[in-house]
Amino acid sequence: ATNRVYNFSAGPSMLPEWVLERASSEMLCYGSSGQSVMEMSHRSSAFEQIIGDCEASLRRALSIPEGYRVLFLQGGASSQFAMVPLNLLTRSGKADYVITGQWAKKAWQQGRVYGECRVVASSEDRTYSYIPQVDPAQLDPAADYLHICYNNTIYGTTFSPRTLPVSGSVPLVADMSSSILSEPVDISRFGLIYAGAQKNMGPAGLTVVIIREDLIGHAMEKTPIMFDYKTHAGAGSMYNTPPTYAIYICKLVLDWLQGPMGGLEQMAQRNREKAELLYDYLDQSRLFSPTVQGEDRSLMNVPFVTGDPALDAAFVKEAEQAGLVNLKGHRSVGGMRASIYNAMPIEGVKKLVAFMQAFESDHR
Ligand code: PMP
Repeated sequence: ATNRVYNFSAGPSMLPEWVLERASSEMLCYGSSGQSVMEMSHRSSAFEQIIGDCEASLRRALSIPEGYRVLFLQGGASSQFAMVPLNLLTRSGKADYVITGQWAKKAWQQGRVYGECRVVASSEDRTYSYIPQVDPAQLDPAADYLHICYNNTIYGTTFSPRTLPVSGSVPLVADMSSSILSEPVDISRFGLIYAGAQKNMGPAGLTVVIIREDLIGHAMEKTPIMFDYKTHAGAGSMYNTPPTYAIYICKLVLDWLQGPMGGLEQMAQRNREKAELLYDYLDQSRLFSPTVQGEDRSLMNVPFVTGDPALDAAFVKEAEQAGLVNLKGHRSVGGMRASIYNAMPIEGVKKLVAFMQAFESDHR
């Protein structure tokens, strides 16, 4: 559609037009069901098929090994800040957290309510602009888990296979809200992965949990039934009404990823190209500076500043008029942030870079 903008929002964010068109064509009547997916009983065979396909497709996309369960939940990633400790912090009652931004910090603050949660590394000293080294000797071998936020949406940093802490037999728990499905990850290195869907998987309202089976079934006494992974694992995510329409859109996103986009490896290649375009420009610009240096740079969220808040504001406003929207940075970093998730086409990044070049020559 010609009147659509390039939306650089951190989430909810762009969805592929392929998905929106498909959903639109099936809006009134899904297949031969005579109804919209939104109107369908979650117990209907049509919806059973959708959720089954969604899980199978996610398993294929991420190569999720045997021995892991996939749960389709609600409550956002923020609910997982509590659900993780309620379910996992029950052997030694101790956990280690790496603080790489506000979301990681919120997870830690919530975890502390339920047990002894220690900060083992932090990058708060430099406004979370890097991924801190985690010394394996610092980790508690008796901890129930080690928690990280894999991609830091606000600050634009990411863990990588190179920086991922080696936690031995301690389960690694990762918030992957803003990087899931952006590139392949070795799921077997994690005990539990969670992600809100509203960045790379679909609309808000769906939260995906990928959990190693042995971590299910040890929840604290008095854990609300809805907050016990066992409840949802035992009921195929159908203990209560799941977010049916969001699951359907997630299935379409996975169809798109593994159909026209050619799979996760190719998606990752495209994501690297998009990010490189933007970082290469930022690295030589005399007006804009990236806030993250080196190998910890996120492929998904790219913060940058001019150093002059008034100029930043002018840039955001003029970009919006040019159809490049939601470029304002998070208030804790200031400046701008371009979130370039899977659904952002390379044309959007090219248009942004061209706009920045023009703005730079006008304001230098
Ligand atoms: N973790 C990360 C990394 C996020 O980016 C966000 C949302 N921006 C959250 C957690 C919170 O997610 P939700 O709004 O789904 O609770």
